[in-house]
Amino acid sequence: MLGKIIWVLFGVALFYFIWKIGLGMLRGMTSTLPPPPPSGEMRRINVRYRCSSCGTELRMTMAPDQDPPPPRHCLEDMDLIAPVE
Ligand SMILES: [Zn+2]
Repeated sequence: MLGKIIWVLFGVALFYFIWKIGLGMLRGMTSTLPPPPPSGEMRRINVRYRCSSCGTELRMTMAPDQDPPPPRHCLEDMDLIAPVE
């Protein structure tokens, strides 16, 4: 009777072990795909800046936060024009 229980437990442990390996293999397969950008690190924004000295305009589409510091041009901070909708 006790021997039977040990074998059942062994079977369960074996099943669990195989299941874990399968899960690891699945994870290994999915890790070959490019990982999605971590949330909270880069944000998709759409703002325009203009250089007050020479008039150069640029559009920023990605930034680490929603309200990034303005880029510099002609040794001056660029002016934020307006968020592009
Ligand atoms: Zn400039």
